Amino acid sequence: MLLVSEPSLGEAETAALVETIASNWIAMGDRVRALEQAFARAHGVSDAAAVSSCTGGLHLALAALGIGAGDEVLVPSLSFVATANCVLYVGATPVFADIQGLNHPIMSVEQAARRCTTRTKAIILMHYAGYPADREAWVGFARSHELMLVEDAAHAAGVPGVGSFGDAAVFSFYSNKNMTTAEGGMVFARDPEVLAQVKLMRAHGMTSGTRQRLDARTPTYDVTTLGWNYRMDDLRAAIGLAQLQALAQRNARRAELALAYRYALAKCCPSVQTPFKNSDRTSACHILPVVLPRSACREVVIQKLREAGVQTTIHYTAIHQLSFYRNLFPNIRLPETEEFSRRELTLPLHPKMQESDVTRVVSALASALAQ
Ligand SMILES: *Cc1c(COP(=O)(O)O)cnc(C)c1O
Repeated sequence: MLLVSEPSLGEAETAALVETIASNWIAMGDRVRALEQAFARAHGVSDAAAVSSCTGGLHLALAALGIGAGDEVLVPSLSFVATANCVLYVGATPVFADIQGLNHPIMSVEQAARRCTTRTKAIILMHYAGYPADREAWVGFARSHELMLVEDAAHAAGVPGVGSFGDAAVFSFYSNKNMTTAEGGMVFARDPEVLAQVKLMRAHGMTSGTRQRLDARTPTYDVTTLGWNYRMDDLRAAIGLAQLQALAQRNARRAELALAYRYALAKCCPSVQTPFKNSDRTSACHILPVVLPRSACREVVIQKLREAGVQTTIHYTAIHQLSFYRNLFPNIRLPETEEFSRRELTLPLHPKMQESDVTRVVSALASALAQ
């Protein structure tokens, strides 16, 4: 079965783990710090905070920015559920905005503006599939409405400029992401004080960690704010350092495969739309989404592809259409998001694939659509 995504793991990750275990320090320590610095440098920002997941990082970013009860946060519904869940974690209300359209499935500035109220405090952008949202438009919108901007950059590790749009940005290192530590994430914040607050809040609000207490030879600490346990550990950070070394090269390989898909789809499946066709921005090519013709039965296509040995997935069932959110916020209508969500299919894309795999997927899709 050709999988939608697969982690690229090898000798570098094995050696890094072995070395970390041999060091006898596996909790948050020097390797976590080294990963923070290296990941920040790779994205042109000055510092970062490693966390146990992107979800935890989004929670911390909103908490550190002071978003809370009574506040509204504009979010795309076409995202992973964590993008909205984190707003509920801090007691605020997610307000869903529609995407631009089938060819550009990123939250629309105009739609977001229409849903802005006096209670709106922040926007969470999501760089869908690794294509960065329009920086100037969003920064301009945020400034003119005095809103904070948070990037959910889970799809966009390694993309130049991503992570520096907003007041905060959060990446995911989950095992199906472009760079993985099995579970993990990274937070950037423009204001060093916000980043310091994220670091406090990721570890119970404690003023020093196990490692610092060892170094300082003092057993005391204070707790100055409510915190959680969203720490990363040195085992994961060691894997992350090895993964980061190969990220640019692997993202470039994804881009080559995405281009091969575009040509093959245009030739063999002209009724299938490929979003971001006219985008000139560098993408992490995290996933390969296509939009099936309106008349196609997606369930049948999925089944036919499965029979041909090709796994497919859906990005995403719109968040406002999930039972939990439907119950919380009934009667939301987002026509473009709903249409995209109904017709989208995600094809396999990962750096271990060959061009021949792309050809195989596209011809299997062509025959599934012909039936
Ligand atoms: C994967 C993902 C997350 C959550 O990441 P975790 O590290 O698994 O918590 C959040 N947002 C988006 C868009 C994602 O794809």
